[in-house]
Amino acid sequence: MSEYKDIWVFVEQREQKLMNVSLEILGEARRLADKKGVKACAVLVGYEVKGLAEELIKYGADVVYVIDHPLLKNYTTDAYTKVICDLANSLKPEVILYGATYIGRDLAPRIAARMRTGLTADCTALDIDENGLLLQIRPAFGGNLIATIICPERRPQMATIRPGVMKKALMDEGRRGEVIEIKPVIEEKDIRTEIISIIKEARQKVNLEEADIIVSGGRGVGGPEGFKLIEELAEVLGGVVGASRAAVEAGWISSDHQVGQTGKTVRPKLYIACGISGAIQHIAGMGGAKTIVAINKNPDAPIFKIADYGIVGDLFKVIPALIEEIKEAKK
Ligand code: FAD
Repeated sequence: MSEYKDIWVFVEQREQKLMNVSLEILGEARRLADKKGVKACAVLVGYEVKGLAEELIKYGADVVYVIDHPLLKNYTTDAYTKVICDLANSLKPEVILYGATYIGRDLAPRIAARMRTGLTADCTALDIDENGLLLQIRPAFGGNLIATIICPERRPQMATIRPGVMKKALMDEGRRGEVIEIKPVIEEKDIRTEIISIIKEARQKVNLEEADIIVSGGRGVGGPEGFKLIEELAEVLGGVVGASRAAVEAGWISSDHQVGQTGKTVRPKLYIACGISGAIQHIAGMGGAKTIVAINKNPDAPIFKIADYGIVGDLFKVIPALIEEIKEAKK
């Protein structure tokens, strides 16, 4: 066990652009590595991605392992599992962290099984205990409990982390680190799937996790018509539309807008909750917003407990008045 050292982050990139979630986790890996006195390492996998290594150093990596190969251009479970397991078996990291993205959720369990170690999915916090073990913290039992999970007997300790819950480290232009190119052993026959074509989703994707301003609607919005008002407010503010699960389950808006424990975790500068009561599962996804404004006709709604500004009133009167004011102010 003592051979295992350093904290690794599996870095996701799409078309040679780093994903925010990887930078968020790298910031956390930096903090944990400092606490343990070990290195924070980024594992960058893809094809022609070496150019991204310096950026990872500026965001906190001491070492960047670049695994570059034409067969790694697009993500496949087989290829990525193989090259990361090969590297981990030879360099023995103590911890490997992944984003809880579609790719991370596919890759991490495969690596865990292959390396016969544990994995905690969907962590919302991490820490190091007095024995140097990774504390993997996540909500359990529908958010009623916070579980702290450890993996004392196997290595590496592994976790996936939800996008948006950790703060991205500030970029430090002066940081120096090491870039190590790894020559992967990978052949076509190692990959059992073939990517024939990649079809990008035609509809505009809601990028809640990266939005600075989110206007969210809940059951109080009353129906799909009511969401037009939410959209209008979001548009004048230059923001995007979020929703509570009640609104999604009612079929008023698609599930990619859902904020909360089973939706997205967001950290915007401004979050306006309209007709949302403030259930714990909703707050789990937006409590980290810098400024929270709540519009609700019930003065006792729990959302007011966490709101920075509260407007008690009917959203069908308050929002049109707000839109008018904002339009006026813009003139
Ligand atoms: P309600 O609780 O019904 O609140 C509606 C609010 O609108 C009320 O406060 C009311 O006063 C107000 N209102 C009504 N009319 C008006 C009006 N005209 N003007 C102003 N205000 C008005 N929920 C999530 O949001 N996200 C999640 O990810 C999520 N995950 C969950 C996971 C689990 C395991 C469980 C058990 C639940 C989860 N929930 C989640 C559901 C959550 O518990 C609540 O049921 C849900 O958030 C309620 O949505 P809401 O606030 O829109 O509706």
